[in-house]
Amino acid sequence: MNLPYPPGPLNQLNQLARIIEEKKRTQDQPICAYLYDLEGLSRHAEEVTRALPPSCRLFYAMKANSDPEILKTLSGRVHGFEVASLGEVMKARAASERIPVIFGGPGKTDEEIRGAIEQRVTLLHVESMHELKRVEHIAAAMNRTVSILLRINLSGPFPQATLAMAGTPTQFGIDESLVGEAIQLALSCPHISLEGFHLHSLSNQLDWRSHLALLAYYFDKVDGWSGQYDINISTINVGGGIGINYADIGSQFGWSEFADGLSRLISERNKEGTSILFECGRFLTAACGYYAAEVIDIKKNHGKHFVIVRGGTHHFRLPVSWQHNHPFAVVPLDIWNYPFERKEIKDSDVTIVGQLCTPKDAFARDVPIDRIRIGDVVLFLYAGAYGWAISHHDFLSHPHPEHMYLTNTSVLT
Ligand SMILES: *Cc1c(COP(=O)(O)O)cnc(C)c1O
Repeated sequence: MNLPYPPGPLNQLNQLARIIEEKKRTQDQPICAYLYDLEGLSRHAEEVTRALPPSCRLFYAMKANSDPEILKTLSGRVHGFEVASLGEVMKARAASERIPVIFGGPGKTDEEIRGAIEQRVTLLHVESMHELKRVEHIAAAMNRTVSILLRINLSGPFPQATLAMAGTPTQFGIDESLVGEAIQLALSCPHISLEGFHLHSLSNQLDWRSHLALLAYYFDKVDGWSGQYDINISTINVGGGIGINYADIGSQFGWSEFADGLSRLISERNKEGTSILFECGRFLTAACGYYAAEVIDIKKNHGKHFVIVRGGTHHFRLPVSWQHNHPFAVVPLDIWNYPFERKEIKDSDVTIVGQLCTPKDAFARDVPIDRIRIGDVVLFLYAGAYGWAISHHDFLSHPHPEHMYLTNTSVLT
């Protein structure tokens, strides 16, 4: 099976360029907008879901982007939503009354636990011993039984092929050394049904073989615990963390190869009867989003070319957060309304920055460019996950970008 999307954005640039040009003709203000390809998102989510073996369930981790249009598009394409707050539970419910919701996150309040139970959350991911006691306490008061997964913070060492990032100290989950104690406690709670384990341990995995090795390691762990403590496990949540290759967009995670490998792994380990849950954020929504920002000025300071766009990292924080050069394309626009020369740069390295009064406001530094002019539009690719959702929108009080939603037949704004 061949998944064309991601890396799809490049196939679409002509269409996007037409939409941007059309927009420019009808407005005075410089272009500054997020564009979401809902049709592409729908197709991608469907293909990703369909490729998985039958015992697997794909949840969308909505912290990557909880825009209502995105959630509406994904409900019905994925098996459910993964949420990390009561606010996200309510967003899930606004998108769909019935969609399965699973709830994780460190530091859940009593109100959140109660709210999640009231909203018929399918699974709670319990992240500490104290939280386990509180879930029992609250469920008992509500006279309900709550299905849970214990989120375990694995101590490693992880198999060599997997990323070093896993196993470093974090605030998530229950330390692996306490797994026996946590299982005993869960089993002793009359209002808790222990369904299995949650093992999300890394992010931005780019290599499908490494990810498969990680899942094999998870299966070893779970088999060990179920043998040792004599429990039946119905569900393993293997987390999200499937990455996007921002540095080389032509080379993305091989989802279909991974799914085929997983199919073999499941049968080798006799896991056909166990639900394997994925909760992917980035891999589902990154490719459908674009951030378009018009070039307002070009200058050379201290020997370096700076391209200044309308907007900034207060709209699209990801490149600063990850300290990377974000991939982009230049959309040339042949519209120029000033009576003087149009500045341009050719065949040079440029640094693309926004309007914020901080030198950290950069999307990409010293990256080669064929040509860019004032009035052209820089179109950032793979901006649909951890973009607008993680940005400090009101820093400096500039206007927000427009949000445009593209479907196959029309542009909704
Ligand atoms: C953030 C997060 C995810 C999603 O991560 P991606 O890298 O976007 O796939 C999934 N599960 C948990 C517990 C998370 O914190």
